[in-house]
Order: sequence, then structure tokens, then C-alpha cells
Amino acid sequence: PVTPRSAANDLARRLRDSGFIAYLAGGCVRDALLGREPKDFDLATSATPAEVLKLFPGSNEVGAHFGVVIVKHGGHPTEVATFRTDGSYHDGRHPDSVTFSTPEDDAQRRDFTVNGLFLDPASDEVIDFVGGRSDLEARTLRAIGVPAQRFEEDALRLMRAVRFATSLDFQIETATWEAVQTLAPTLSKVSPERIRDEFSRILVSPQRARGLDLLVDSGLIAEFMPEVLATIGCEQPPQWHPEGDVYTHTRIMLDMLGEHAPLELCLAVLLHDIAKPPTQTVDEADGRIRFNGHDALGAEMAADILRRLRYPNQVIEDVSFMVSRHMQFMNVQQMRTAKLKRFMSSSTFEREMELHRVDCASSNGFTDNYDFLQQKEEEFANQPLIPEPLVTGRDLINLGMTPGPAFKEILQDAQTEQLEGRLATREDALAWLKQRLESQT
Ligand code: ATP
Ligand code: MG
Repeated sequence: PVTPRSAANDLARRLRDSGFIAYLAGGCVRDALLGREPKDFDLATSATPAEVLKLFPGSNEVGAHFGVVIVKHGGHPTEVATFRTDGSYHDGRHPDSVTFSTPEDDAQRRDFTVNGLFLDPASDEVIDFVGGRSDLEARTLRAIGVPAQRFEEDALRLMRAVRFATSLDFQIETATWEAVQTLAPTLSKVSPERIRDEFSRILVSPQRARGLDLLVDSGLIAEFMPEVLATIGCEQPPQWHPEGDVYTHTRIMLDMLGEHAPLELCLAVLLHDIAKPPTQTVDEADGRIRFNGHDALGAEMAADILRRLRYPNQVIEDVSFMVSRHMQFMNVQQMRTAKLKRFMSSSTFEREMELHRVDCASSNGFTDNYDFLQQKEEEFANQPLIPEPLVTGRDLINLGMTPGPAFKEILQDAQTEQLEGRLATREDALAWLKQRLESQT
């Protein structure tokens, strides 16, 4: 079978056989040398887009004016890009023009040295015009050329710097880092969608807590999520939070999440206490710190933040919901069975359990609510949490009721009886309905 790797190698051979140079380029070379599985295998070639299209008819020429053709082989799309030099930049994001040129020039236009490597699949030789190999070995992220100039050309590279430093767990070289800090305010030139994509990749990296620190220390987070800055130094009651302020608490939680934590969970952890700074009060009498209603306000703030970054509606909804409910985990042991079952039936519940687990683990160390819920999950495992209703609106109509707002309330009460285990059969439920209607009139 054709794999993405063998597809790229096959295409490279076909290009070579026609007299062109064809190298694996950029991220896939970096990842292969690091022993990581590359996300995709990109080719760089001396063939022009027209020549690539002629060799691989029916390919997708989207981006051909930038020298990029997408060639499908064995079901795998491979980006085939002509060696090029980027012209000058005026909007801080895109080159005004591109000129087809040499492998060396093509390496120079790339962002970081570790992203500027080529690999010749014919000889397995690494071709390095930018010192990328030694930076890879030293685990250093370094801009190619003059850092400030490269970030001025394209401000997205500011986010990419933090993203690669985080996902690769590399140190950012000093001059590169200083340029990121200096030019952080120019991130405003980048669309929210592009910022979001880089931010998400930082947050799902195992080193996400360090990534957050880099976003804060660089000044980048001030440009797209300034709310987080207010959590730094936001004091909490020491008896519940021996670890310290809201930022510290949150970053410890991020560190405690598993390597493959889903994005919604990472976002919910990051934002779960986002409304603590604006709701913080200090009691004049006893000096106690309180945060009244921070969960409800936090849900609103989280939704605002994620909407601003153009996250999909489902993500916004789930994260906001998780933030709104995270304090309720403290009360689960006092909930009636029906309420508890409804609480646990949410599609977000497993992610909320994990949020709650790290919330406690990073602060007071309590595990009783978590253990209780795990025990309840086992107890309820062989029955649906919310079973089919025993009675419906049709039964109410048959009993002579006219449809209206009272319907919903009665059916909700019937469900409560069922969830509590007090109604097991349809006959019981119908009898309960009759009695309920009689007692109302
Ligand atoms: P990954 O695929 O894991 O995100 P990658 O390094 O392959 O990492 P891509 O965005 O796929 O990143 O880009 C492929 C290559 O194109 C990069 O390795 C880099 O050489 C170059 N590149 C991408 N974006 C930029 C940019 N904004 N400025 C300069 N070079 C870039
Ligand atoms: Mg890539």
C-alpha cells in the first residue's frame, strides 16, 4: 500500500527521472531527524508548477501562483512546491510576489533553521544551507536571517515561534526571542483564525504549561487573550489554594493533563477560573477572599474569548458549559439521584471529570467528589442514565389535559420519579400521573 511517505518518494523519483531536482522539505525533514512521525511530507522541486502539472495531470493547482501544486498519489495529497524566493512584504503577512529560484534561496525564505532543511530521497542526504542540523541537535529554535526582519515580514511567525518551541520542547535562541518580544504587538496583523490554529496547537502540546508561559512572557497573549494576564497575582484563599495565585493554579493543572488531552479540555482548564479576577472580593471583617458567581461569569467570558478567536460553535458551547459547571462538582455528594443522573448524562461529563480531578490535584488535593462520581459511574454502568420516558405528552392529552407550559413540568417530575427509582413500570407511571392531575384540580 502507498503511505504518505512512499507517495512523496514516488513523486520525487518521477520528478528526478524527468531531470528535475526534488527534495523532501521543511517540517517532515525536521520531524524525521527528531524521530517523530511527520504530519505531512512536502516536496520542493526545480520544476515549475506548469511542469509539475504536465508530469502529474489532474493535480490541484490551488496556490500555483505561489509555486505550490498538490499532487494526489495512492490517495495521499502531497504538496509539491517550486524552489522560490519571496518578494517584499507589505501587509505583514504575505509576500507581494514570488520568483522561482534555487534550493538555497528557498531555504532562506523559510522561518526557522530547523524548518529549512532538505532531504534528498535518492541518497538520504540532508541538505542544510541554514545551520538547521546543529540547531536540531542543540534543540534550539532560531529564525533564519535577521529575526526582527523575518517577523516584520510575516507576523504569524511570532506565534509559530512559540508553537514550535512548545511542541518540539526547544529553547528559543536569544536574538530570536528578543525579536518576538519586541514585535509581539504586531500580532494584530494576523487573522483570528490563524492565531487560533497556532494557539490550539500550543495548548494540545504536552508542554502546554510552558507554552502558556512563553505566550505570557513574549507579550503575545496580551494581543489575543489579555484576560489571562489578570489571573497573574490574583490571590486565592490559602487554605484551599496552597499553590498560590490563579495563574499558578491553572498552569499546574495544564501540566497535570495527559499527553493527549483533547482541545476542549485544555481550553476549559485554561479558562475555568478566568472570572476570578473580576469577581474577587476581600471581606472587610475577616479578610477572607471570595469569588462570588465566578463560574457563571466565567462561562460568559470563556464564550466571548472563544468567539473572538472564531472557534467552532460546538467548542464554544462545550467549553463554556464546562466552565459554568466546574464548581458544582463540589456538591455532587449532596445531589438527589435524579439530579445527579442528569448531571452525569452530559456529553461533556468525562472531560469535566478530568477538569475536576486536576482542579483538586493542583490545589487542595481532595479526591472525595471524584471518587464518589467514579463509584456512581460504576453503579449506573448497566442502565442508561436517562432511560426512555414511561409516559409522554400523549398520555397527558388522553387524560384530558390541554398542551401548555404545565406539560413540561409534569413530564419533568415524572422523569424525576423514574430516575429516583420510584416509578418502574408504565402502569405505575400512569397511576402517578392520574393522582398528580387530581391533586392539582
Ligand atoms: P507542521 O506541519 O507540523 O505544522 P511544518 O514545519 O511542516 O510543521 P507547515 O506550516 O506545514 O509547518 O509549513 C511547511 C514548511 O514551510 C515549514 O517547515 C517552513 O519551512 C515553511 N513555512 C511555513 N509557514 C511559514 C511562514 N509563515 N514563514 C516562513 N516559512 C514558512
Ligand atoms: Mg507541515
